[in-house]
Amino acid sequence: MPKFAAGVVKFQRDVYPRNAELFERLAKGQSPEALFITCSDSRIELGMLTQSEPGDLFVVRNAGNIVPPHDTTTGATTAAIEFAVGALKVPHIVICGHTDCGAAKGAMAPEKLDSLPHVRDWLVHMRAAIDITRELGSHLNEHDMMLMLLEQNVLLQMAHLRTHPAVALALAKGVLQIHGWVYDIADGEVYAWDDDVKDFQPVSRRYAAQVAKYLDTAHEHSHAHAHS
Ligand code: ZN
Repeated sequence: MPKFAAGVVKFQRDVYPRNAELFERLAKGQSPEALFITCSDSRIELGMLTQSEPGDLFVVRNAGNIVPPHDTTTGATTAAIEFAVGALKVPHIVICGHTDCGAAKGAMAPEKLDSLPHVRDWLVHMRAAIDITRELGSHLNEHDMMLMLLEQNVLLQMAHLRTHPAVALALAKGVLQIHGWVYDIADGEVYAWDDDVKDFQPVSRRYAAQVAKYLDTAHEHSHAHAHS
């Protein structure tokens, strides 16, 4: 039996009953805190990485965590963004790239993508990030150049996001924030774009105040539970 089918059986037997309250609430609807756009890569596990629960994140995944700029065609990513922002009113959008990304590697060597014509065409949405990296990162070693591409790609897709009318409207109303992250699979670090310093910073520094406040509250809760 495939591992994932056995997993469903285990979920039904052990996990679902333990979380009955949560699933009862979720059966009535969703109110996610963020639209999370990341790569399809199998190594990104959002529940584990962000310690979030079902219902917390509305997720769009594709090769290269790409957001095509808005135009008159309808695509899966465009429709999901419109729904998350226009209907669900998510207050945050995160675009999250990651290290060792096959899409980013492919974008740097398109001649290797002849047998993958759809991948090759899709990665055209990374073009500006590739051009910037090739020219401004030409002095870097291969590792640093790839990191630069991952960061530039996140910035580019953040810019593409702003061309989507629902996103532009929510930003203008001040009810939406866009975040740009790069997840380093090798060491578990997540670098987040900091618009104040115009650079990527570890999440613990970029969100220091928010993280401290949140962990404080969570600590008080667990403390209260221990005594109830
Ligand atoms: Zn990837």
